[in-house]
Amino acid sequence: MNDQIKPQPGILDIALYEGGKAHVAGVSNVVKLSSNENPFGPSDKAKDAFLRSVHALHRYPVTDHADLRAAIAEVHKLDAARIICGAGSDEIITFLCQAYAGPRDEVVFTEHGFLMYRISSLAVGATPVEVQERERTADVDAILAACNRRTKLVFIANPNNPTGTMVSAAEIARLADGLPPQALLVLDGAYAEYEEGYDGGAALVDARQNVVMTRTFSKVYGLGGLRIGWGYGPQHVIDVLNRIRGPFNLSTTQLDAAEAAVRDQDFVAKCRNENTRMRSWLANALAELGVPSDTSMANFILARFANQEEAEACDAFLQGQGLIVRRVAGYKLPHCLRITIGDESSCRQVAHAVAQFKGVK
Ligand SMILES: *Cc1c(COP(=O)(O)O)cnc(C)c1O
Repeated sequence: MNDQIKPQPGILDIALYEGGKAHVAGVSNVVKLSSNENPFGPSDKAKDAFLRSVHALHRYPVTDHADLRAAIAEVHKLDAARIICGAGSDEIITFLCQAYAGPRDEVVFTEHGFLMYRISSLAVGATPVEVQERERTADVDAILAACNRRTKLVFIANPNNPTGTMVSAAEIARLADGLPPQALLVLDGAYAEYEEGYDGGAALVDARQNVVMTRTFSKVYGLGGLRIGWGYGPQHVIDVLNRIRGPFNLSTTQLDAAEAAVRDQDFVAKCRNENTRMRSWLANALAELGVPSDTSMANFILARFANQEEAEACDAFLQGQGLIVRRVAGYKLPHCLRITIGDESSCRQVAHAVAQFKGVK
């Protein structure tokens, strides 16, 4: 213990992030449904681009990400000049906190909100402010009531992880309208692609000066291992974030694979359709077994058990069958398990195992 060399205030308040489990002792063939990964992996086009990039590994990557931004802009009909790319959307969240929040500033998010909002706020010495949800759904009035002169950032994932619930576009617009003038609203669209036709909040970004959207290649694109995400915002915000972004924050491999991935929207549509089909199948199957969940708009469901004891017992039972789901006590949902929608066979295995656990069989 050294009491002279100390990190900045806030750092020691950060609880280490625990990723979804990937192994069970003694089980070799596990089905991993704990990190909201795409069961189909990445598109073949993204894999081909990844492999081709090996020939350029001796070169530094480009610094402006122009080709990837142009591809994203073309596919989503956005302004390429107002897109920023990062090592996962986590890096965009980090940039936003570094640029806009510091000691004595407040960063607002909801009680079942994504853990990175707290971690990134504490990392810059800002004060995290957690707002109650209503029935596992963000409550715009409660968020507005929590804002004040110190509020610099308001984070909301839509759909949210781990609840899977969504707030309507009208409610999000009301939130953006009601924020204090110095606060920026960040719409985290990590799961936006799972809701067909949903723009992740892009139109609201275009219409206002105080809204930023973050997106990722980690979920429907099946590229979580590669670390690529992006943000879309007003020019004044993107110009600020680019000042703190490392010039070589993304490798050539990341850029090339992501560009091929975003251009393959047929693959995205196929994954979305399969997710929608199996999500309602699994939700219905578990509900019939007495394990309800809210209607999810993402690639997981939040299964609710009678209490923490039953949720933990079911988790242990599933692990014994090689099925790894996610405990969410860290998200203040100790009586729930978050189950990623896998392929059809995985979903059937989960339903079968929960039936056995419940003794229904
Ligand atoms: C998975 C997830 C992300 C994605 O993080 P990456 O850094 O892009 O992998 C962002 N926000 C939420 C709410 C998520 O669940």
